[in-house]
Amino acid sequence: MLTDPALDVPLELAPDDAPDGPPRAGDAEPRRRRPGLSPSRANDYMQCPLLFRFRVVDRLPEPPSAAAVRGTLVHAVLERLFDAPAGRRTLDAARALLPGTWAAVVADAPECAAVLPDPTDTAAWFDEAGALLERYFTLEDPNRLQPAERELAVSTELEDGFELRGIIDRLDVAPNGAIRVVDYKTGRSPRPGFEGGALFQMRFYALVLSRLRGTVPAMLQLVYLGDGTLLRHVPSAAELETTERRIRSVWAGIRSSAESGTWAPRPGPLCGWCSHQALCPSFGGTPPEIPAGAVEVALGIRPPA
Ligand code: SF4
Repeated sequence: MLTDPALDVPLELAPDDAPDGPPRAGDAEPRRRRPGLSPSRANDYMQCPLLFRFRVVDRLPEPPSAAAVRGTLVHAVLERLFDAPAGRRTLDAARALLPGTWAAVVADAPECAAVLPDPTDTAAWFDEAGALLERYFTLEDPNRLQPAERELAVSTELEDGFELRGIIDRLDVAPNGAIRVVDYKTGRSPRPGFEGGALFQMRFYALVLSRLRGTVPAMLQLVYLGDGTLLRHVPSAAELETTERRIRSVWAGIRSSAESGTWAPRPGPLCGWCSHQALCPSFGGTPPEIPAGAVEVALGIRPPA
């Protein structure tokens, strides 16, 4: 599992990038879908094309980090918290959700339990997650808002036939129709001047929503629980056009890499957090053979074999 050391942002394969599911009974071959890209995978390619290949094409395993698994737990609690009616969304209620939500996380991904020194001793683990939830309540009062959507899967197809897809943590819609896009981060906020990476993901979602709903979201809001910071941004139509050009450029790069079989390493400060240094030519390693069907897998048309 990679973590951006500057932002403490887990860079794991996000749910929005999960392959399109295993073959179903009766399928003659693995299901196909439109070629497409999520913000996480676009970020991977921008960081390092070889890292994108290792993650998306080769699907090399990455051990889960405690930070990423804790983030998954806290995200799930914040999603469930809004099942309660306004007035009952308290910190105690959120903490009370931790054991059941953790059981669901582990049932879904048993490897997550391995981040605990003793999987049977969850007291300290819940204390850490509870501290993040406590910080959440210093930033927002969940009793004063009613999300229009939680964990909203969105997608839209661009004219040249590829799809932008992702999952938005929370969508708030005001009575006048104004949309606020909200994303929770359990790490720390970026240093001033380094917000661009985090805002790329939000602008990506804003672009998708503007196409789906015919209006540019009024607000993009990142909720950093690591240091108790709200990062808010009002997007413009012009910057979403810039974002679209950037996404098209990344997509063209991925297509070119996939079709040529050339996935160049791009060494940088984040290499220290890369799980695949042993296979990276920049560190004396040799990547495995490119698997069959790599082009379709890289373009998100089908899951790896
Ligand atoms: S070690 Fe660095 S250059 Fe090599 S694959 Fe990982 S991120 Fe890319």
